[in-house]
Amino acid sequence: MKCEIIRDLLPLCLDGLASRESRREVEEHLAGCPACREAAQGMKARIETPLPPLCPDTIRPFRKLRQRMVLAVLAIILACTLAAGCVFFCGVGWQVDSGSVRMESSVQNGILTLDFMLRDGGILHAVSRLESSGSTWSIEFRERLSFPFDDRGSNPERCFWGLHTGDQDGNPILLPQSVVLRFQDKSGVLSIPDLLLEAQR
Ligand SMILES: [Zn+2]
Repeated sequence: MKCEIIRDLLPLCLDGLASRESRREVEEHLAGCPACREAAQGMKARIETPLPPLCPDTIRPFRKLRQRMVLAVLAIILACTLAAGCVFFCGVGWQVDSGSVRMESSVQNGILTLDFMLRDGGILHAVSRLESSGSTWSIEFRERLSFPFDDRGSNPERCFWGLHTGDQDGNPILLPQSVVLRFQDKSGVLSIPDLLLEAQR
């Protein structure tokens, strides 16, 4: 048999896939052909070389990668918590107790003004809306922290709420009857006619 054919058969013989007849012919050829014998030994050596075991040096990079991913996830969670905290404390704010807000009322130039002042020096927000009945204003008080570079304005602890008591010519108009002040601990109802009488006194 030609050497080329033997070389083609060698892998099959080594894998145990060649027929008994082929194997016998290959063995006979190898006995008399040093070149093919060497080639066969080379192939055998390559097949029998064990795969390098997974040593710690190959495992560690994956462990490091996993640690980095855990750290990244923790960092993202921390950043989100900080951002949410910032939005709450510096943006949305929290409700204020009735005891921490002082109120003064006055009427000037046909405008009833309620002047609210936060005692502790934080930033006061008064969110007012006219209730659907049309006869009651509702004011909710919130306090927030100032964030860096925040323009606190001249009196961030103060809020004003105003109501025109007449039209442009000073004629009386139909006014809402009450203002509800909503604090965290309680709500207080103020009568607008009473406020006007009091302020004019
Ligand atoms: Zn040969």
